[in-house]
Amino acid sequence: MQVFESSAALLSYLNERKFLGDTVGFVPTMGALHDGHMSLITKASTEHQIVVCSIFVNPSQFNDPKDFEQYPRQVEDDLNKLRAAGCSVAFIPSVLEVFPVPDTHIYQLGAVAQRLEGAKRPGHFNGVASVVKRLLELVQPDRAYFGLKDYQQYVVIKTLVSTYKIPVQIDGCPTVRDPDGLAKSSRNQLLSQAQRKEALHLSRSLKLVREAYQKGIHEGLENLGEAYLREQSNLDLEYFAVAERDTLASIGNGPVSKDRGAIALVAARAGHVRLIDNMLLEPQS
Ligand code: AMP
Repeated sequence: MQVFESSAALLSYLNERKFLGDTVGFVPTMGALHDGHMSLITKASTEHQIVVCSIFVNPSQFNDPKDFEQYPRQVEDDLNKLRAAGCSVAFIPSVLEVFPVPDTHIYQLGAVAQRLEGAKRPGHFNGVASVVKRLLELVQPDRAYFGLKDYQQYVVIKTLVSTYKIPVQIDGCPTVRDPDGLAKSSRNQLLSQAQRKEALHLSRSLKLVREAYQKGIHEGLENLGEAYLREQSNLDLEYFAVAERDTLASIGNGPVSKDRGAIALVAARAGHVRLIDNMLLEPQS
């Protein structure tokens, strides 16, 4: 595996490979890699000769300085995992390499970026847009892979790419979970045993709502999820939302339209660790 810190060296390597006919899949991450990240690497490897994984903890997407500080960093361990997975290129740039001058642009990300995470974490999606646009410019991949675990981020990135006409395909990959249902997340390693047990209520609330939907209950789903979390858990709930699948416009407790499709999304804190999860409300397959 090639490891680059310099974007010029990375681009020169990638240009050589592209000249030889190779295509490039790109997986941007903030490191502390787990099986969720690795599923993106695996998918990219089946579709491209070259897979680039970036590890960059982007300061501008953290609205909470404490969250940035405590975010796990374990680059050596990450590089070993990437090697074992057959990743071709790791890109681990410094902040100056990515942003030689600070990006002060306010990105036009539409209404979708104002809701849910956008409302709870002011500036977050602008920071995400800024770093993703920059990384896409540096790597120039054919296709970039994002996890549906961060569903709203995935929708915002699709908006970014279409609004700013960035020539790349965006792929959304399914959420990888622990056997007990907890969505894999780098932040899970910050949880105590008791907090991890609490965190399980996130996926349980989503499953409860999805099962209700599958049984034909199409109204009052937001209340159902919220009541479950308030009654059964000690999590500090930020939101439990039912929204349209493509726009994330609120459905709330209103009837879910079968044509437009819906998704349930949740955000809560277990102690000082903020966690998010979501599930599509789909008919039973
Ligand atoms: P992060 O390092 O948290 O920025 O995540 C990097 C990429 O991995 C993002 O596209 C995430 O959505 C994706 N990802 C994180 N956790 C999971 C998971 N449990 N399953 C699938 N993809 C994930």
